[in-house]
Amino acid sequence: MNTIAEPASRVSSADKARREAIKLEKRLCREVARAITDFNMIEDGDKVMVCMSGGKDSYTLLDILRKLQKRAPIRFEIVAVNLDQKQPGFPDHILPDYLRAQGVDFHIETQDTYSIVKRVIPEGKTTCGLCSRLRRAILYSVADRLGCTKIALGHHRDDILQTLLLNMFFGGRMKGMPPKLVSDDGKHVVIRPLAYIPEKDTRQWAEYQQFPIIPCNLCGSQDNLQRQIVGDMLREWDKKYPGRLESMFRAMGNIVTTHMMDPQLHDFKGARATGVAEPGGDMAFDPDSFPEKFVPAASGDTLGITIQLQTDLARSACG
Ligand code: SF4
Repeated sequence: MNTIAEPASRVSSADKARREAIKLEKRLCREVARAITDFNMIEDGDKVMVCMSGGKDSYTLLDILRKLQKRAPIRFEIVAVNLDQKQPGFPDHILPDYLRAQGVDFHIETQDTYSIVKRVIPEGKTTCGLCSRLRRAILYSVADRLGCTKIALGHHRDDILQTLLLNMFFGGRMKGMPPKLVSDDGKHVVIRPLAYIPEKDTRQWAEYQQFPIIPCNLCGSQDNLQRQIVGDMLREWDKKYPGRLESMFRAMGNIVTTHMMDPQLHDFKGARATGVAEPGGDMAFDPDSFPEKFVPAASGDTLGITIQLQTDLARSACG
């Protein structure tokens, strides 16, 4: 009995995994396409530079963009770019081998920023600030040289939520990570096509596709502690309170400026009774109502460890 039943169960679990992967692929394509459309990220004739770190998110980004490229009603080019910063032990064959096998147009930029950072930053001090500034400048210059009109980064929904919370917890401001922005030098448009994708989906897709992941701790810098703590907190919320992260994320695109406290966004001092009913006006005395099942965070969901916020934000650029 067992010998017959075992292969059958193996077959059915393989089928199940395949069905799940098909569903995931559809979801990834749909949500990336939705983000691209919502923010007008890619236009006809664009040349998109996809920044590849060798992590699960950048592989997923490249893979899904290539799938969309084949069926998009517009024409755009893709070039994958990796910056080899000469970190000790960086396996510099992995990405070229993969990209060549996939038939992807690619460029590897080799610049030893690792030595510069080690030389300039005293031992024991955080290296991320300088490292990410150097990386940014190099990637912009590569985009210029390759004639790229858009620079695509692999940040996903959870990176965006983490950044919002880190800024709130430690920076005293409500600032996330935009899906599309003009670079600080004013010359480049940076896009985040995975903005609507939860991290668990990129993880699952990377596992299913067996992307050759390059470890992300090669620089030897200490782990990004505060970002990790916030990431763990979000994952715990996601398990305990399904829908909370989706709701938080939706909130980032649904800001009621009259009900915040930023005088730059709303003229509170100038607020006067007009005598005219406003459909969007506040009832003032009535509390907002929320669904019963939305339970507030447990008191244990606190963050008590301090580390420089600058470090966390700078290191987020690694993904
Ligand atoms: S963690 Fe990232 S940003 Fe920080 S030093 Fe290492 S490679 Fe650079």
